[in-house]
Amino acid sequence: MFTKLRTRLTAIFILLTILPMIAIALVLGQSIYTSSIADTSERVGLIEDQMAFAISDEIDKHVNELMVLGEAIPFDQLTPSQQRGITGELLTANQAYNNIVIISPDGKAQSEVALFDVVFDNQSVDYSQDPLFLQTIELGEINYSGVFFDEVTGEPLITFALPFYNKRSNDLSYVIFANFRFRVIWNLVATIERQSSQNVELFLTDPENTVVAHANPTYVFQKATYEAPQGNFGVGLGGVESLISTRPLTINNLQFTIVGQEPLETALLEAQSAVINAIAIVAVAAVIAGVVVLFVTSQIVQPIEQLAGVANEIRDGNLNATADVNRNDEIGNMAHAFNSMTAELRHTLAGLEENVKELQKARRIAEENSRLKSEFLAMMSHELRTPMNAIEGFTSIMLNGLGGVEFNDPAEDFIQRIQSNSKRLLALINDFLDLSRIESGRLELSSGEVSPKDLVRNWENEIGILADKKGLNFEVTVDPKIPNTVVGDAEALSKVAINLLGNAIKFTETGKVSLSLKYCGDKWQMIVADTGIGIPPHAREYIFDEFRQVDQSSKRKYGGTGLGLAISQKLVRAMGGYIALESETGQGSTFTVTLPLNGK
Ligand code: ADP
Repeated sequence: MFTKLRTRLTAIFILLTILPMIAIALVLGQSIYTSSIADTSERVGLIEDQMAFAISDEIDKHVNELMVLGEAIPFDQLTPSQQRGITGELLTANQAYNNIVIISPDGKAQSEVALFDVVFDNQSVDYSQDPLFLQTIELGEINYSGVFFDEVTGEPLITFALPFYNKRSNDLSYVIFANFRFRVIWNLVATIERQSSQNVELFLTDPENTVVAHANPTYVFQKATYEAPQGNFGVGLGGVESLISTRPLTINNLQFTIVGQEPLETALLEAQSAVINAIAIVAVAAVIAGVVVLFVTSQIVQPIEQLAGVANEIRDGNLNATADVNRNDEIGNMAHAFNSMTAELRHTLAGLEENVKELQKARRIAEENSRLKSEFLAMMSHELRTPMNAIEGFTSIMLNGLGGVEFNDPAEDFIQRIQSNSKRLLALINDFLDLSRIESGRLELSSGEVSPKDLVRNWENEIGILADKKGLNFEVTVDPKIPNTVVGDAEALSKVAINLLGNAIKFTETGKVSLSLKYCGDKWQMIVADTGIGIPPHAREYIFDEFRQVDQSSKRKYGGTGLGLAISQKLVRAMGGYIALESETGQGSTFTVTLPLNGK
């Protein structure tokens, strides 16, 4: 996941652009939502204010008309029927009162008119103990009862109690009790509610939380069960989830609360559509940002992908591939540098190919030369061997006295020298012949089954005499795990063994020479060890090269040609094995030949 640069960049850009947008959308949505709700609450608040003014106005208007009436008419000087005449006029004129009572200072009702009831003189009614009457005369000014339910008319009423005083003596002249029909206020509430374009339900509660005015009369005198302070949600009157705002209304000692409730469904409508709009705008912006992100990512990644593609083409061998990026920015520079680099590479490669061709040609010539040299050597050695064999043969005959020729001692000595020198020369020629055969690739090794034990026996016979002559111990051990037969070329194996054993005896004056065969896995080892002069470390590097000996003094003292190890190593390699050498100067040397059990 995210291993591709394109995916990574896209993910990072999206995180950097779209996440902040989502955060903005959330914050914006929240604030739009809150402010929209605040707006709605404020609008409801304004309607409530309007209602508060209208109610205050209405009550003030009626209180004032009563005040003016009471001030203007000396009711205490009128008969009850005169009183009724005046108050009755007011009653029928505006229909705002249920009844009006004129009460004398001692609390006795003097007259009463009622809108729906019979008009009567009601002198028997005594208000002297009425709490409102007592409170009013004590206060000495207008006083209101709370809103109460009138059993007779089935209406809510509120009593306006107005005391009037003698202008001169300042004594209480009479008190007017006017029962104001609170239905007037209902109508006001209904009108304002209708007029407001809001889907708001308005009502008025008294301090006991009883609904006293509502457009729908069924709610009046119910306990209001709204449970929210201004601007919050709650369950409103009628059990509807609503946005509720309240406002207190105080008129002298009258206290009301105006409640406005708007069902959540409509209250949130505006907020919801504002939030949906905000989300839609952010979503569109996010889509645009997404497109921009994809475009920018592609601008960055596309040329890189193109470069990678060209690099792959070049890797696959198409050196003529070039990056086609036409830009003036850093990526353009990179593509340009890349193209110059491939051009340089093409140039260098062309030069290299030329060199390789020349080298191949030179190698072919060298190989041909070497082959010719080896052929020449092989041919020459072969040609030399024939006369040398003749010389050797004849000297043997002469020394064995077979030719009937008699020699004196000095002559015999000469002939012996001729024989030994011709033997050396023949050995040398044989070495040359082997070497040139190996080098010219004409040496063909057989891979028949050979018995290591038999070979060891032969070598023991051949070498044992030489060791004896020098008074050296010759130890032979054969690992019992060695198989009876291994695959190899008996002649080559013998050549290697005899050469190594010959060297071991030649370079050892005292002590012992040993030959051991060891079994190791799918290989077997032929280990030739001696207690001779050893080989110094620097010489271990080159004594396997042709004609190389430890130093010149070695040649003088021990003779030899320096070809034995070179031939041995080449033969061992040809058989799929290798030779390792361990040696300590003055202590001895160990040559280990490791060969595969099943031949090459
Ligand atoms: P040659 O014996 O004819 O000189 P080789 O190639 O067989 O040629 O050996 C090369 C040289 O390596 C020898 O001349 C000798 O200096 C050194 N050498 C080989 N085997 C031994 C040995 N067992 N101990 C010490 N020196 C050795």
